[in-house]
Amino acid sequence: MSNGLPADYDAIIVGGGFAGLYQLHCLRRIGLRVRLLEAGSGVGGTWFWNRYPGARCDVESLDYSYSFSGELQQEWDWSERYATQPEILRYIEEVARRFDLLRDIQFNARVTEAHFDAKARRWNIAIAGGERFVATWCVMATGCLSIPQTPRFPGLENYEGRWHHSADWPREGVDFRGLRVGLIGTGSSGVQMAPIIAKQAAHLTVFQRTANFSVPAQNEALAPEALAKAKRHYGERRARAMETTTGIFLSGCDKSAMEVTEEEREKEFEYRWRGAGGGFRMVRAFNDLLLHKASNDTVADFVRAKIRSIVNDPATAELLCPTPELPFGTKRLCVDSNYYETFNRPNVTLIDVRKDPIVEITADGLRTAASRYPLDMIVFATGFDAMTGALGSIDIRGRGGEALSEKWASGPRTYLGLAVAGFPNMFVLAGPGSPSVLSNMVHSIELHADWVTRCLECLRVEGRSVIEAGQRAEDQWVAHVNEVADRTLYPKGNSWYLGANTPGKPRVFMPYVGGVPAYRKIVTDVAENGYEGFLRD
Ligand code: NAP
Repeated sequence: MSNGLPADYDAIIVGGGFAGLYQLHCLRRIGLRVRLLEAGSGVGGTWFWNRYPGARCDVESLDYSYSFSGELQQEWDWSERYATQPEILRYIEEVARRFDLLRDIQFNARVTEAHFDAKARRWNIAIAGGERFVATWCVMATGCLSIPQTPRFPGLENYEGRWHHSADWPREGVDFRGLRVGLIGTGSSGVQMAPIIAKQAAHLTVFQRTANFSVPAQNEALAPEALAKAKRHYGERRARAMETTTGIFLSGCDKSAMEVTEEEREKEFEYRWRGAGGGFRMVRAFNDLLLHKASNDTVADFVRAKIRSIVNDPATAELLCPTPELPFGTKRLCVDSNYYETFNRPNVTLIDVRKDPIVEITADGLRTAASRYPLDMIVFATGFDAMTGALGSIDIRGRGGEALSEKWASGPRTYLGLAVAGFPNMFVLAGPGSPSVLSNMVHSIELHADWVTRCLECLRVEGRSVIEAGQRAEDQWVAHVNEVADRTLYPKGNSWYLGANTPGKPRVFMPYVGGVPAYRKIVTDVAENGYEGFLRD
């Protein structure tokens, strides 16, 4: 803004994680002038911020990686089946370097405002500090889990120890040695962290409100021969992954859990728990685990039996067992390395804060209704304002000044999860209304970014400069997203997929559960049919 005018671009991309970086690469390839605005001081998005000990992806590295570049795919060597946060961040940094992306990225640029000027047909965008930009296209690559949530316990401001949130972890790391550490939250982040903190801390107290299901990652180093073999067949692996509901290469069983004998079921579950590579393979043990309660109960019982067999103290084991009200997998399944085993350590205690809730943080620790816990450090693994939080943190206004936060007051409404009626020329990548967090995010990101790129190319060829989701198409899509979710058990778990973890948030199932192949066909057909459901000018 050297001459006092806002910097002028064809497209502004908000967010420099997997989505924003690939979108930048694509839009530059078609000759657009693009600026990517990133709140952090480096690339990586979620992998930039979540530096807590034990952070690693719950999707295998060979799948959770870009497929757009054969060379990148062949030349990058993953060291483990499930990559750690530092390794994924190194990978993303390598992508930014290799494709020369950094020159179009502005760091420490937190977008605060995006207003559409209908007359000028352009977005006016501002970042914290006041710098302004204008662009024809605005792509929100803001991520689904980027606004950390710290519960507002009274007294936190007077706490004399140190506290950290998993998603805003100090870059220099944290030394737990000799400390009494309190960990609040037992979702994916807490479950990954607990075993590592327990090894270092004098004592670890885990405050659990809801027991969730966790399955072993069966993580292991990727031996050079195994990696080379996987790379020889990478194309095949990607193609097969794209035909699965989640876009992840995992073998599934095409039978109902009710079709087989109890022995066959146990054998299949046992194989997936131990032998077949762990993680989300368990969800694919049968084809109806997330559809029918009776089938779901079989896997839930299997995992509860495992917990009881691992954890020595029967009362602790019972407390770690999810209750029957929570169907298996309806809250995101946790994937761990030695989580349940950690509770056999003499320096680890589990506290039930459902029965005995946290009432305040004191100067020297934490107080529940019935007890006091002196703590030198508190770690919040309490999750995120998921899926809509990042967009909600920006003052986004569409045609006629309508605020997105108002429009979404009763839950997010999108057409295909890609666009919003009343908000022309704005695209959302891998957000609500698309397979997103129920799929391999990197695959879904590539699908969306490719779709947006092709769309903008078509508009340019046709001499158009505005595209907007039609209201009717959006209404029909929202109804479809809800209807498909209601055919599953997902809405029965009080998960962040539903906004249930955020006080006051409307209870709406946000991701599209119809599966990656069905979704890809829908968005491809829409494009091929002249952007059916969109208004263009
Ligand atoms: P989360 O799944 O939302 O878990 C938050 C935890 O904090 C829950 O146990 C929750 O209890 C608890 N909590 C929240 N407020 C509380 C309060 N006031 N008092 C007591 N407990 C409270 O968050 P997350 O673990 O950060 O994971 C979020 C998502 O990020 C995951 O589901 C996953 O998609 C992603 N993630 C992935 C990985 C991976 O790839 N392996 C790792 C980390 C995160 P309730 O259940 O009772 O609400």
